[in-house]
Amino acid sequence: MVAVIRSRRTRTFIEQKPPLAHKRERDQCPLSLRTTKMTSYVVLGLATLHGVHAWGALGHATVAYVAQNYLSAATASWAQGVLADTSTSYLANIASWADTFRSTTAGAWSAPLHFIDAEDNPPTSCSVNYARDCGATGCVVSAIANYTQRVGDGRLSAADAAEALRFLVHFVGDITQPLHDEAFEAGANGVAVTFMGFSDNLHSDWDTFMPEELIGGSSLADAQSWATTLISEIDSGTYESTKASWIAGDDVGNVITTATRWATDANALVCSVVMPNGAAALTAETDLFPTYYDDVIGTIELQIAKGGYRLANWLNTIFETEVAAKREIVEGAEKRVGCWPHGRSTSASSLTSPSWTGASSSPSRAR
Ligand SMILES: [Zn+2]
Repeated sequence: MVAVIRSRRTRTFIEQKPPLAHKRERDQCPLSLRTTKMTSYVVLGLATLHGVHAWGALGHATVAYVAQNYLSAATASWAQGVLADTSTSYLANIASWADTFRSTTAGAWSAPLHFIDAEDNPPTSCSVNYARDCGATGCVVSAIANYTQRVGDGRLSAADAAEALRFLVHFVGDITQPLHDEAFEAGANGVAVTFMGFSDNLHSDWDTFMPEELIGGSSLADAQSWATTLISEIDSGTYESTKASWIAGDDVGNVITTATRWATDANALVCSVVMPNGAAALTAETDLFPTYYDDVIGTIELQIAKGGYRLANWLNTIFETEVAAKREIVEGAEKRVGCWPHGRSTSASSLTSPSWTGASSSPSRAR
C-alpha cells in the first residue's frame, strides 16, 4: 500500500478522490476482459523520473507468491532463514523493499539497478545489448548477476545475505516488465497518456494502474489471490505448454547471458504489445481504457506469472548448486577435522571462492 500511495503522487488531481474506493467487485475471472467503466476525474500534471516505479507493490508481491509456490521445501527453508521470516508471505513481504530503499538517501545508488536502458528503436526495432545498454552505474542485468553471486556465496553477514535476497527477488520481477528494459522516453515515463480518466504516463500504467484495475486492490491478499489464479494457469491452463520455455537455458553460472535473455524477451514486447503503433498513437488516444487495456492486460499477467516461475527456478538452482553444495563441503571438512592428527581445523571461510562468470564478479554494494 505504501508503494501505491507513493506512485499516486505522480498524478495531480483537481478533484482528489481515492481511486481505489471506486473499485468494482473483483473480477472473478482475471484472465478475461473487463469492460466496466470507472468514474472519470479531471486531471492535470504528470512526469516522473525513470523507474520510480517497478511493477507496483501488487505486481511484485504476486511474483513473489507465485515463486513461493514452486520453491522446494529446502529452498523455502533456506530463504526463510536468510530473511528471518517463517511466515507464509516470506518473499512477498520483502518483494518491494528495493523500491522503498532506492527512495532513501542511503539507497539512491541502487536506482539504476531497477532497469536496463535498451538503446533500440521501438516500435520499428527492439533489442537489448548488454555492453551497449547496461551503463557504467549498472543495470538490472548486472544487479541480478551481482546478487545471485552474493546470496549464494555463503560468506556474507546475515544482514548482507538478506539484503542480497531482497534485491534479487525484486529485480527478477522488474526485468519482466517490458518498460524496465527500454530507454525510449525513460522507459515510457515520458509518454503521456490517459487511463480511466487519469492523466499519467505509460510506465506507471503498466507498473501499477492496469494491474490494480484488473485485480481491484494492491494488498498482499489481493496479490495472493492473483497468484493463485496464475499458478492454476501455469499448472494446467493457459501457460502449461509454455512454462518450460520461460526457464529454458537459465544458468546461475552464466548470469549475464541468462538475465540478458530475460531482458530481451520482455523488451521485444515493447515493439509487439506495448507500443506497436508508436507512442504518439497512445498519447493521441482519448483513454487507454478499455481498448488498449484489453489488448495488453493478458501480457501483463503473462509477465507476472513468468517472473514468479523464473524466480522459483532461479532460487531453487542457487540453493542446490551453491548453498547446499557448500554445506556439504563444510560438513565434509568438519568430519575430516577429527581424523587429522594435529587437530587442524577447516572453516567455511577457508573454502575457495565460487567460480562465477559475468560482469559482476566481485561482491560489491556499489552496483
Ligand atoms: Zn524496481
